[in-house]
Amino acid sequence: MSIKFKEVSHVYSQGTPFEKTALKNINLHIEKGQFVGLIGHTGSGKSTLIQHFNGLLKPTSGEITILGQNISDKNTSLKEIRQKVGLVFQYPEHQLFEMTIFKDVAFGPENMGLPKDEVEHRVREALSMVGIKEEMYGKSPFELSGGQKRRVAIAGVLAMKPEVLVLDEPTAGLDPRGRDEILGQIQMLHKSLGITVILVSHSMEDIAKLVDRIIVMHRGSVALDGAPGSVFEHAEQLEKMGLAAPQIMYIMKALQQKGLDVSTNILTVEEGAKALA
Ligand code: ADP
Repeated sequence: MSIKFKEVSHVYSQGTPFEKTALKNINLHIEKGQFVGLIGHTGSGKSTLIQHFNGLLKPTSGEITILGQNISDKNTSLKEIRQKVGLVFQYPEHQLFEMTIFKDVAFGPENMGLPKDEVEHRVREALSMVGIKEEMYGKSPFELSGGQKRRVAIAGVLAMKPEVLVLDEPTAGLDPRGRDEILGQIQMLHKSLGITVILVSHSMEDIAKLVDRIIVMHRGSVALDGAPGSVFEHAEQLEKMGLAAPQIMYIMKALQQKGLDVSTNILTVEEGAKALA
């Protein structure tokens, strides 16, 4: 069960003066269980791309198969695909609206028409997975810290038991502590559930240490795709695309100038400094 894109393009407002090509001939294959970082400058097409993962947007041309189903096929159930591919939008806490945390997380599974017992079981399981304790269940989502709100929003998607979890900039606007907390939770979810995770970010530093594959988007195309170490080898290209993580890029360049191998897993400043020494 995987996600496959074949020559996919997406043009907004096609045929109008506002026409805008957001994706150009994308070919991708994301396999089950992968932890993928999707990175790119603002406007590079990340949000447009991930909205194709669960059929919120359909390709203008090309073909997309999600978990065995072609999303443009009229017999494909988009409802089913949206349950299997959970999408956590940017600032998901803006979508929290129920009186209590419990009710908020229950919203998705209730809409799936599940029996009350199963809904309750899923809500408890999802909240415990994101580290929200039982004494919090009755609280209003608005009483929570930024990081906690975001965890509740993620629990709302987990309660649908997705096979793929897509997170759009889950650390946006959080302080360093909230950021580490969320990234740690996501890493743990990937390990314990074994689900496919696709993490959108504009920060190389945030994701390099977590993921096993980085897809770099640039002006609607896939510019680089591979293991973090192999993507980092393209220091100059990344810098041109405005994606340089300055310290690590400086080290990678120094290593390259010395003729040293940078394809090994040098993903942190500390590792790089050690290799240079
Ligand atoms: P990112 O998520 O990487 O910032 P987006 O997918 O949001 O990139 O945007 C890709 C391009 O498509 C940008 O040039 C953006 O202005 C344009 N775009 C995004 N959404 C729309 C829309 N609804 N209508 C027209 N153009 C859009």
